[in-house]
Amino acid sequence: MRQSSLVVVANRLPLDDNVAPDGACEWRRSPGGLASALHAILESTPATWVGWGGGVGPAPPLADIGTLRLRPVPLTEDELRGYYEGFANSTLWPLYHDAVEQPVFDRGWWETYRTVNRRFAEAAAEVAEPGAAVWIQDYHLQLVPQMLRELRPDVLIGFFMHVPFPPPELFMQLPRRLELLRGMLGADLVGFQRPQAAHNVAQLAGKLLGAKGADDAILFDGRVVRTGAFPVSIDVTEMEALNARPYVVNQARQLRHDLGLHKKVLLSVDRLDYTKGIEHRLTAYSELLRDGRVKVRDVVMVQVAVPSRERVESYRGLKDRIESEVGRINGEYGRVGQPAIHYLNQPFDRADLAALYQTADVMVVTPLRDGMNLVAKEYVAARADDTGALVLSEFAGAANELEDAFQVNPHDVDGLKETLLRALVAEPADLSRRMAAMRAHITENDIHAWARAYLTALDHSGQLARHLPRQREALAPRA
Ligand code: UDP
Repeated sequence: MRQSSLVVVANRLPLDDNVAPDGACEWRRSPGGLASALHAILESTPATWVGWGGGVGPAPPLADIGTLRLRPVPLTEDELRGYYEGFANSTLWPLYHDAVEQPVFDRGWWETYRTVNRRFAEAAAEVAEPGAAVWIQDYHLQLVPQMLRELRPDVLIGFFMHVPFPPPELFMQLPRRLELLRGMLGADLVGFQRPQAAHNVAQLAGKLLGAKGADDAILFDGRVVRTGAFPVSIDVTEMEALNARPYVVNQARQLRHDLGLHKKVLLSVDRLDYTKGIEHRLTAYSELLRDGRVKVRDVVMVQVAVPSRERVESYRGLKDRIESEVGRINGEYGRVGQPAIHYLNQPFDRADLAALYQTADVMVVTPLRDGMNLVAKEYVAARADDTGALVLSEFAGAANELEDAFQVNPHDVDGLKETLLRALVAEPADLSRRMAAMRAHITENDIHAWARAYLTALDHSGQLARHLPRQREALAPRA
């Protein structure tokens, strides 16, 4: 078994489901922030990625992608239901997102979650060389840090939570709260998107484990577990290269023509998920049309709602409700050749997304709760000429950083309506000032800065961060 000095452990391998018959695979991203986020780092660092390959049953070995080795973790159909669709996405996901949808507690799912977490820990233990750094990602694998520590006390263990970590009142509802908290605290460094999450963990560690904790370190099991906020970001250089591609520029021009040259374009891009606030947003837009404050001859909305978790019951119900509401709005307010909303229930590739971002006068990002929201940052990166407005939920992690967005409480439909109108009529000078400030922030705090900050904190010796590109300019632009 080949071993690596850096091991990433995540639910999914960074692959599409389709691997060519000869085993060749192209680096593809599934729609989700994590794969996008780590893409840039692992292209340039020799490492092994441990993750589920996407199918069910035994996992065939996979060819390397450049310097990256892939170690697939097999899952059966039952495990997929219990671990992934069940405990991860029907228990933890809703609970960690403020319980905006009722979390489901099922004892069978828990057993499967533990079994699968152990399999991931064993795979990581196998491919980590002595003293390696192992970086475990997200809520699917919250038990892995402690399990790995038991198997391999010699390795350095990092854990990063991409989703929000809830306040104690909510976390306390979890029947397996003790195991989940202990599991995560098996790491040497636990990273979150926002400082509030580290505060929540310190409080819980005190309350549930009697551990001494502050917002940057918790004394547990005779060890110091460091904690902190490391807001994830995007590859700004890649986004800029994409924006300049002739295909993207032409596509943006075509979209603008198709949508109406003189119309203001409102754009939302989300996975079809109840945390994203799509229904609240549709209500706000529909009421603006009803009140005559927005007219279809002046404004058009584009809602990209990427199919997601379609086997989970609550997602199917959400899809039906959204599609019925979109139909109603278009039926009531549309004109022949002029729909009020273009609804696209399909995934877009990065070039087409970039073209959409370039076309949007107002980007509407209004999740009810979101760990970060990379779409908000991608929109800012796409506005090279400092035009465009970002309407951003206070409950997205990105709101901590993008203070110059039009921030809004998405639960407050009246407030949302007023904010949309403000963004639609804002003066170009105001928009330009806001966008320039936000662009400066994400340029400085891009994906490389995130990885360097996390890995430097994990490994004080600086060995890991040494692999990372030092400056944006030093990177070859990727088309
Ligand atoms: N995305 C994509 N195709 C789509 C829609 C989204 O590739 O049709 C990407 C998008 O560019 C972003 C990611 O999926 O990088 C979504 O990340 P975000 O943090 O906004 O939300 P998540 O899906 O992780 O909750």
